[in-house]
Order: sequence, then structure tokens, then C-alpha cells
Amino acid sequence: MQHLDGHPPLHRVVHRLLDHTHAAFTEPGRLRNQATELSARIGVTPQTVLIREPKQRWGSCDANGALRLNWRIIQASPKLIDYVIAHELIHIQHPNHRPTFWANLGRVMPDYE
Ligand SMILES: [Zn+2]
Repeated sequence: MQHLDGHPPLHRVVHRLLDHTHAAFTEPGRLRNQATELSARIGVTPQTVLIREPKQRWGSCDANGALRLNWRIIQASPKLIDYVIAHELIHIQHPNHRPTFWANLGRVMPDYE
């Protein structure tokens, strides 16, 4: 199989797909850790943290305090991931976008003012 020698493009493509699949299974742990860390910093405890694959949303939370994160956000920058998680966590206490909500978010994410 001469074409498989020396890492030809096909081999690399397959390898990338494997890595990608692997990431889908391991990365949710990282999201969970980030959520735990931010929860402590904000002083809010989500009821549960669910890693899902919704069609459009990056994250959401409900009145019961369940935090849902789209595992695809792992492809975003760590800062953006923090923002999404912090935004949803603060919604647990402030289920609206009133000034108090933004004031709290600004305290945790000063760069996003
Ligand atoms: Zn919001």
C-alpha cells in the first residue's frame, strides 16, 4: 500500500476524524470543570450540568437551575466558553436581562462590559 506510506493526505484526514470523535467524548469533562469553577466564583449552584447537542443554542438554563451546555462550544475560545457558562449561571439567579443581570455578569466577566 504505497499510498499509505509517509502520511498521505487520506491518512491524515482519517486521523483527524478519529481525534475529533475522541474529543466529543472527552471534552464535556472540561466543560463540566469550567462550569464548576465558575459556579464557585459566582456563588451559584446549578441543579445539574447537562452537556447536550441542541441545534442552535450554545447554552441555556431553566427555572429548576439546570444548566445545559452545547458540547460544540468547546470549539470556541476559552474566554468565550467562560462567557457562555457565566451568562447561563447568572440566569439561575436572574432569569431576565435586567440591569442587575448585566451588573452581575460584568463583575465576573469584566472584559465583556
Ligand atoms: Zn441571557
